[in-house]
Amino acid sequence: MLKKLFKSNAPKPAKEAKPAGKSSKAPAQKKAPVQKKTPAQNKKAHVNAAEDRAHSGPKGKSAGSQVTKGSDVKHSAGTASKKEETPWNLSDFNVAPMEGKTRFHDLQLPDSVMRGIHESGFEYCSPIQAESLPAALTGRDMIGQAQTGTGKTAAFLLTIFNRLLTVKPEERFASEPRALIIAPTRELALQIGKDADALGKYTGLNTLTVVGGMNYDSQRKMLRDHVVDILVATPGRLIDFMRSQDVFLDQVEVLVLDEADRMLDMGFIPDVKRIVRGTPPKDHRQTLLYSATFNFDVRILIDQWTTNPMKVEIEPEQVTTDRVDQKLYLCAESDKYSMLERVLEEEKPERLIIFANRRDLTRNLCDKLNKNGHVAVLLSGEVAQDKRIRTLERFRNGRVNILVATDVAGRGIHVDGVSHVINYTLPEDPEDYVHRIGRTGRAGAKGVSVSFVSEDDAFVLPDLEKYLGTKLELSQL
Ligand code: AMP
Repeated sequence: MLKKLFKSNAPKPAKEAKPAGKSSKAPAQKKAPVQKKTPAQNKKAHVNAAEDRAHSGPKGKSAGSQVTKGSDVKHSAGTASKKEETPWNLSDFNVAPMEGKTRFHDLQLPDSVMRGIHESGFEYCSPIQAESLPAALTGRDMIGQAQTGTGKTAAFLLTIFNRLLTVKPEERFASEPRALIIAPTRELALQIGKDADALGKYTGLNTLTVVGGMNYDSQRKMLRDHVVDILVATPGRLIDFMRSQDVFLDQVEVLVLDEADRMLDMGFIPDVKRIVRGTPPKDHRQTLLYSATFNFDVRILIDQWTTNPMKVEIEPEQVTTDRVDQKLYLCAESDKYSMLERVLEEEKPERLIIFANRRDLTRNLCDKLNKNGHVAVLLSGEVAQDKRIRTLERFRNGRVNILVATDVAGRGIHVDGVSHVINYTLPEDPEDYVHRIGRTGRAGAKGVSVSFVSEDDAFVLPDLEKYLGTKLELSQL
């Protein structure tokens, strides 16, 4: 309400200065001076950018740099931890030039961003980063045909950090993110938020993740009371906050739409259209759109939402088959559990995800494994959101080494060091197979996938082989 009042007093937006040599976009619009508000309102909603921001120095604690207790809402960056107090210099990050590879050093990123990259252990750009970043960093719209496992998250996060750090608005207000990332599932959104916290740790930029099924009031409070630079959201929850006027998107400079095809499949497009309409017009923002497939519907969205985008294509086959040893075992449906025990015995997986097609199947399988002396946890749509996050955290920390999941819950799982994936049942959609086995063989590591092919699974093989473009060898265990 206060916000609405303030908005209606705002003069016509004026254009902001363009950063030298960085953005080809028309810059963000500027808002009315803060004097329009009462002192009480000012205190709550307005934060001077100079006070709020801290880019890389050891004293880099920003006004919005708080991390709330509990796993559901995060608002972080620039938190003064012991690590941050350690001085760091770009010369500490040594990566030798290598033919055919792009180093992050070659991209003229701010030092605070380079420090996060260094700490994340990245050395050279992944193919999608090497192809997209030089253009994206100048402000060009991008469309990326890429799946998880290719490094696309870092590609768009680095683009956002660079933009937000090189164009500094004088005044900031609560409820007005400068970058917006929309993702179809909670898991994916939370993972993006986590990556933003890690990569952006020294930037002083604040990231907030808002997703459905989790504490509404604390997310709302973070939006209303703090300056949020980067907002990561699932469509439904964001629409709720737009309706209640807890968030305004007219200051969004960079818009990211992740897994656009998935959003179409899940019926989110009317919501996403509303969200996009809330952001500045397409020639006043940078838009980065990612999708595993570019069907007719996705192409329509691209035409509507982007301006002269550069297309970067990373074939899914490269992501999976190159680094994953795919084993397919023929078996009877009734023998699957004993086969699973044998695979566990023989492969001794360090960290394993078992996928099955239905929730009840995953639940029964997880129970059976635990009864038989294994320690397994369940990730499916029937598990409450906060529990899912704790489960994923236990798996990520290595306290539990077997995760049993359905496809939808498994979409956003980004855990490094997954040595094996088992397809207890083969998915009907070949894309899901690629997503599943892409949980292993990540970040340059080798992985193993084992698929059980029973009389109930065999019918998906022809489509799967066609999709992968290879013949799959079946064997007996
Ligand atoms: P994504 O495709 O965004 O799901 O990223 C896949 C994984 O690759 C994540 O674990 C990232 O941390 C990791 N990653 C992204 N970029 C790089 C890079 N340039 N070098 C090494 N690992 C990377």
